[in-house]
This record gives sequence, structure tokens and C-alpha cells, in this order.
Amino acid sequence: HLDAHPTGRHFLQIPGPSPVPDRILRAISLPTIDHRGPEFGALGLKVLAGIRQVFQTRHPVVIYPASGTGAWEAALSNTMSPGDAVLMYETGHFATLWQKMALRLGLAPEFIGLPGTDETGLPRSWRHGVQADLIEARLREDGSHRIKAVCVVHNETSTGVTSDIAAVRRAIDAAGHPALLMVDSISGLASADFRHDEWGVDVTISGSQKGLMLPPGISFNALSPKAIEASRSARLPKAFWAWDEIVEMNASGYWPYTPNTNLLYGLSESLDMLLGEGLEQVFARHQRWAAGVRAAVNAWGLPIQCADPAVHSPVLTGVITPQGVDADALRRLIHERFDLSLGTGLGKLKGRMFRMGHLGDSNDLTLVAMVAGVEMGLKLADVKLAASGVAAAMEHFSSHAASTALKK
Ligand code: PLP
Repeated sequence: HLDAHPTGRHFLQIPGPSPVPDRILRAISLPTIDHRGPEFGALGLKVLAGIRQVFQTRHPVVIYPASGTGAWEAALSNTMSPGDAVLMYETGHFATLWQKMALRLGLAPEFIGLPGTDETGLPRSWRHGVQADLIEARLREDGSHRIKAVCVVHNETSTGVTSDIAAVRRAIDAAGHPALLMVDSISGLASADFRHDEWGVDVTISGSQKGLMLPPGISFNALSPKAIEASRSARLPKAFWAWDEIVEMNASGYWPYTPNTNLLYGLSESLDMLLGEGLEQVFARHQRWAAGVRAAVNAWGLPIQCADPAVHSPVLTGVITPQGVDADALRRLIHERFDLSLGTGLGKLKGRMFRMGHLGDSNDLTLVAMVAGVEMGLKLADVKLAASGVAAAMEHFSSHAASTALKK
């Protein structure tokens, strides 16, 4: 059935893996080199310096040949000891998975968040950002400093909510608490503003397949001096994930094991693109894209998953489907008819919402096309729309200054 194959480019509009620019795909396709040879050291030093700029840190960033889940484990296993209490905040599905991992590692996570559900029947904590005052109040109660870390997700990919990390730092400081601050910015980094040093983050976790526009396969821990100090006495078992040997060998641009050479070619290219454009412009570009997509959703008259406009994600927009419309059936229909992939509703949101990604190799017209695919799907599913989202997105993109184009 050769005819059955869809023509043109697939629309990969999930919130990661994001569409990979051709420039990066070409870089990755170059021949693999000796990871102990002279050329490799120069590549290693280049990507290690560049990635620090993206995390906005002067301190070491560790790169693992693993998905983001590995880097989550690395953050906990390098700094914590068996039975340690960790305060984790429930923003959504990924925060929940990280909390489950903490349990499996033998930690004692305490999971806090907003209680109850709202008028949509969805959990309030999954529609708002991290409430720093709840963290401050809990830390103030912990006079004996049993809590060793505060763990939050910067950009909750399951909901499209981007939390205020500087506010979490202020909350920890206001409580006068020594806990480490660990932040998952797997889907925030390189799309949403993130400042590891300025915001006083001790470990930032990230991955390759979102804002860095790479395929899945490498992930990161950005460290602080306090986190490195904690890793010296932490007693959870760590071997593959241990920072010390990696940081030591990274000084000359090498790794203690075989690194993911070709993805590092891709990372080098990604850093050239992002730093060449300038991080400020990169963040502004995603904000503008997100505003255009939200204009479409608002025109349709459908609720956006993120209920607080102050924390709308620049990376993705979650859309709640009307009662009785199965969001996954809608996604399947859109995929079959228009070769467009949307993000599924995860965990407590299954079947209730879909997610539109606006990250990676995109531009105004790919986003208008995404909106068109969703609008056609909604009509085919007999969802009543207040107005055309396509028209609203076109109006937004044509009336707001153009984004900086990514160089191909
Ligand atoms: N945390 C967040 C916020 C994510 O979006 C993801 C993946 O989408 C993960 C953690 C898990 O990362 P991975 O699937 O790369 O292991």
C-alpha cells in the first residue's frame, strides 16, 4: 500500500520530542569519532561551555547519555541519603512520576499542592503553578530541618503551566531553611527563561528533546557548589550517575564512559543556533508563539488547562475538551486525517485534554497549520466552536512583530 503513506511533512506538535531542525539532523549524521581522540576533547569542551550559558550558570553541567528520567534519578541519588525527607510539589503528571521515583529510591517524599478539584472536575493543583507560600509554610514547620530538598517542576509538560522558580527560592530563604532546591526544567530549558545561578537552584534537570531541539537521548544536571558539597556525604548508592568522576574528566572535554557522540554534534549545532539567536530572543519567540496559539483556543471558546494567565507555558498549551468529547479519540482522528500528532492527556487528565506543542523547529505558518488541523478535527468531532481559531491565530501573528527566523 504505497499510496497509504502520508505525503509532505508529518506535523509533530507534541510538547517534546520537538521537531528537529535540518541543520541539527545533518550535524548528527556526521561520522562517529574516537571519543578518546584529540578532536573529541575540543567538541566536549565546546558543548560543556555552551550548555552552561543555556542554563545561565557558571558551575558544572553534567551530560548523561540517558533520557530525562535518568537525570531525575541522578539529581536525587547524588545528593540524598536513604530515608531523607523531600518536599515535592504536585503540578501534574511529571511531578507525580518524580515523586514515585523518590519513593522507589527509598526517600520519604511529602507531596503537597492545592487541594480539591475545580468546576471542570480537574485537580486544582494541575491547573495552577507552584504556590510558593505553601512551601514556605511547610518549611517553617520543619524546625529540625528534616526536609533535605524541595523539588519542583519548572514547566509541567502534562499541563502547560510554568512555575515561578525565583519565588520558590525566596520562600526557602524566607523560611531560613537549608534544603536544596531541585528543579525539573526538562521541557522549560531553552524555550522558557531559566536562570540556574540567579534563582539559586541547586540542581536543575533537563533533557535534549524539547527546547534544545535534539532527538531524545541525552539529559543534564546543572549543579551548584552546595549540591556538589552535599554529594560528598550523600549515602544513596550512585555509580553510573555519580557526578565526581564525570566532572573531573569533563575538565579536559572527555567522559569516563562512552558519551553519545553524535547527539553531542547535534548539541553543538543547537548551541550555535540558540546562542547565535540570543536567549532573550528565543524566549520572546516562544512567548509570541504561545500567545498566538492561545488566541486560537480562546476563539474556539475552549478552556485552557492552565487556569492562571500569569503562568501560561510558552512551550505548550493544554486544551480541555467539552464533557463527552474524548480528547484521545479526537487526537486519533486528527492524526489519521491530517497526519498531525498532538500530546495526550496524562495521568489524571487522560481523555479530558490534549496538548499543542509550540517548540522546536517551528514558525508562524507551522503553528497556523497546527491550529487548522485541530480546528478541522474539532469540527469533525461535532464540537461547537464560538469562532475560528485559525483566523484568531493569523490575526495574532500578522499583527505582532515577526519572530526571529531560525537559520536553516
Ligand atoms: N519531566 C518532564 C517535565 C517531562 O516533560 C518529561 C518528559 O516528557 C520527563 C520529566 C521525563 O523525561 P524522559 O521522558 O526524557 O525520561
